[in-house]
Amino acid sequence: MTTCTCAFCNRAFEEDRGQPTCQGCPLSHGCHFLRCPHCGYENPATPAWLRRVQGALRRLVAVEETA
Ligand SMILES: [Zn+2]
Repeated sequence: MTTCTCAFCNRAFEEDRGQPTCQGCPLSHGCHFLRCPHCGYENPATPAWLRRVQGALRRLVAVEETA
């Protein structure tokens, strides 16, 4: 289960609870935005590769803080 945090209200929600904003858009199928179920803000969906980079950076920071 993937959880992401809303950039606007800072509350976490499960990614599949966020509603893809233009699922039925005839021009481009899915615009990679996730609507926050709490406040309705449209968050840009984080690509998987970027998530991996963020995770690696977080581990790096944690190591530096404990050193
Ligand atoms: Zn929100």
